[in-house]
Amino acid sequence: MNVDSIKNGIVIDHITAGKSMEVYTYLNLEEICGSVAIIKNVTSRKMGKKDIIKIDAKLDIDLDVLGYIDPDATINIIKDGNIVEKKHLALPEIIKGVIKCKNPRCISICEQELEHIFKLTDKENRIYRCFYCESKKSD
Ligand code: ZN
Repeated sequence: MNVDSIKNGIVIDHITAGKSMEVYTYLNLEEICGSVAIIKNVTSRKMGKKDIIKIDAKLDIDLDVLGYIDPDATINIIKDGNIVEKKHLALPEIIKGVIKCKNPRCISICEQELEHIFKLTDKENRIYRCFYCESKKSD
């Protein structure tokens, strides 16, 4: 892959096609000072189509958040124009403060100070349930 436009930063590769905006939002990439390039529908031998995000800035990506959104994505850390590290993701067992429970009777909705926590209950089908009321995460 061509990374020569980035000297020091991060390339999130192999994003499932169509998910790049979700990744952008969940990782709060609009708050980054450096430039961010979103490339959609790149032809990939492995995946057919994929999205790529190039970030021309140093930052710590929340691997749990990214793993939750798209566990098949890979992260390339770029230093001086070269890939120095590749990170693969996994579905996190627990995800905190990212998604909110939609059950109006859930204690996490009533108690403002409670952190929203979801746990992975079905790895195969990627199902998360609320830690407090066990409601399934719904889109
Ligand atoms: Zn709940």
